[in-house]
Amino acid sequence: MRASVLVIAFLAFFVASCSAIGVIPPQTVTSQDPEPRTIMLSEMVKSMGWRYESGPGAYNYRAIGPKGDQVVFTIGRDIVSINNTKWRQERDVVEKRGKDLLLPESTFNFVAKHFGMHHLVRGTTAPDTVDYTLEPIAPLPGAASPSEPPKATGTELRGLTICIDPGHGGHDTGGQAFGLDEKTIALKVSMLLRDLCTGAGAKVIMTRESDVYPDLDKRVEIANTCGCDLFLSVHANIAPGSGEVDGFEAFYNGNSASGARFAKSLVAAYDAVSGAPNRGAKKDPRGLRVLEKTKVTAVLFELGFLSNQAEGKRLASESYQKTMAKALFNGIVNEWSKKASVSR
Ligand SMILES: [Zn+2]
Repeated sequence: MRASVLVIAFLAFFVASCSAIGVIPPQTVTSQDPEPRTIMLSEMVKSMGWRYESGPGAYNYRAIGPKGDQVVFTIGRDIVSINNTKWRQERDVVEKRGKDLLLPESTFNFVAKHFGMHHLVRGTTAPDTVDYTLEPIAPLPGAASPSEPPKATGTELRGLTICIDPGHGGHDTGGQAFGLDEKTIALKVSMLLRDLCTGAGAKVIMTRESDVYPDLDKRVEIANTCGCDLFLSVHANIAPGSGEVDGFEAFYNGNSASGARFAKSLVAAYDAVSGAPNRGAKKDPRGLRVLEKTKVTAVLFELGFLSNQAEGKRLASESYQKTMAKALFNGIVNEWSKKASVSR
């Protein structure tokens, strides 16, 4: 009994000291969510027979193929551009290491597969049959520009009841950066969106219309009892210590197919007019209350990063707030027209 305890203790110590000095002992991965694997850009281009260089811009790296193909990676983003078409990845490009870049291995596999090198999987333990299903997020062709909004008919949203939830409020400022409060920008955009929706014939319920704080349970209760078809929570992001990170994203409950569809409608519409980097429509990894507990089609939309000085400045400007509200409105119209065509 005692001996076996000692052996286990010794093995535990051995394993701990091996990992401390960087030697990974043979092991069986039992975790449901194994440590994500990474690869250096230099290693990646070498195995593909490509080369790489930094730029364009301070946060981009380009991998260049022998026939002139180009793949652009951006630090802190989950988007890669392959010959000018943007593709969403499972994870962000990790970080810069000297003149090299640390990439998620899933991104490597995706790019390799794109160029017919599907089995260039590093290491012997990685499954070579791994198949990533990633959706193209190329900008929509012929997208409306903010200066020429689609003609409103005043009836696009007839029959829709939507609950708009401006994030935070009152004592809860939400994210703060460069003198900007998330709660204020969320409210301004939400109020503009309310007016657009009302003008298009929708019934709109707001969880707040001033600088007050309904708690999360209250917001959920409003969503679940107001008879709404859609619920949209409006937020802005901060990335502490990563001032270069920018762009918008939408979250939905992973169990909600309609939530996923609504999120994609919003992201596509926002991508078409915002000019900001598209971080995609994503399953909520955090169990956000307003997505977990609402019983209707729900999305939490992050308008952009306050912690990026340039983007924060845009988010605070009245004209961009109108653009953002219009973009969300277009996404709602898109979603509602799909829904209406199904039910009619
Ligand atoms: Zn927020």
